Formats: sequence, structure tokens, C-alpha cells
Amino acid sequence: MNFFQYDFGDEGWGFVHVTNGCWFGLDSNQQLILGSSVVTKLARLMSIQEPGGKIVPFIISKPDAGWVINGLVPFTLHVLQNKDELRYRDQWLYFTSEDVPSLMNYNGGERKCPRCKDRLHKDDLVVQCPNPKCRLIYHESDDRKCWSYDSTCTCGHSTKMELSWKPDPNDAPKRK
Ligand SMILES: [Zn+2]
Ligand SMILES: [Zn+2]
Repeated sequence: MNFFQYDFGDEGWGFVHVTNGCWFGLDSNQQLILGSSVVTKLARLMSIQEPGGKIVPFIISKPDAGWVINGLVPFTLHVLQNKDELRYRDQWLYFTSEDVPSLMNYNGGERKCPRCKDRLHKDDLVVQCPNPKCRLIYHESDDRKCWSYDSTCTCGHSTKMELSWKPDPNDAPKRK
């Protein structure tokens, strides 16, 4: 599950990936966050995988926890939708259903690139398709742009390296 959380150090919205069972709440500085530093728990993030492989993310709220989603008091269980705003008083973060592919150095076993059919070598710059049902790995360096060669992976997932939506940087929480 992916979120945008405001980073006061970098002064910008940061992309945060969290796993099933992660808490949403306040840290010891009363800052609204996700993850293991949550001290005051407001809700818990969960997901289920449908038989077709689609991931359905949802949030389970504590009763009367005091936070709102898109301006409304949440039901105990809310299925998360793209761009949902999770707010507690003057702080908020956003859920995003987008997944951005990232560049990495290959360190797996013997495997071929699905685009050029050549072998992937250790430390080659590669991109792994973020689709959990696919996970194909392509070359992606200056001289071999196998991932970005086409607009989609063979599974249909977009090969864009940028997210199509990010929160407005001028619309950000203020530091406590
Ligand atoms: Zn290739
Ligand atoms: Zn794919």
C-alpha cells in the first residue's frame, strides 16, 4: 500500500510504502504518521488479495478515533480509493493506488529480459514491474532501455517512471 506523507526534513510530500497490518496514528511528537513509530493508534491498514490477484486495501478505524477520511468520519471499515485524504486535525496524508517502478541493480539468478531476450547480468541496471502478478525484470540503462522501450509491460502495467498524481506541494501541513 502506498501513501504520500509530508516530510518536514525534506519539506515535500514523500512516497511511503507500507505493508499489511501497518498502523496509522500519531508518533511521540504528535505527528501524523504510518508505521512502527505510531504511539497513539487511530486505525490499521490491511489488504486482501482477490482470487484474480487484485489487491484490495482497506483501513479499520478505532471507534471515535477522531480522524476523518475525505472530510467524513470513517466507518469501522473503509476500502481505500486513489487520492483518499486521511486527516487528523491539521495534519493529513494521502493514499495512492499508483505504484512507481524503481531502478535497481540486478542481483538475482539466471534470467532473461522479456524485451531483448538477452540474459540479465549481476549489477545490470534493471526495473522490476510493480504489478504483483507480473514482476518481470527488464534492462533499463542509458544504452538499453528495455523497460521504457514501450508504454506498457507485457502484462499491461504502465512503464512510466513518474506517478501521474502527487499532492500539491503548496498544500502541506505545518510543522508542530
Ligand atoms: Zn533487455
Ligand atoms: Zn508487468
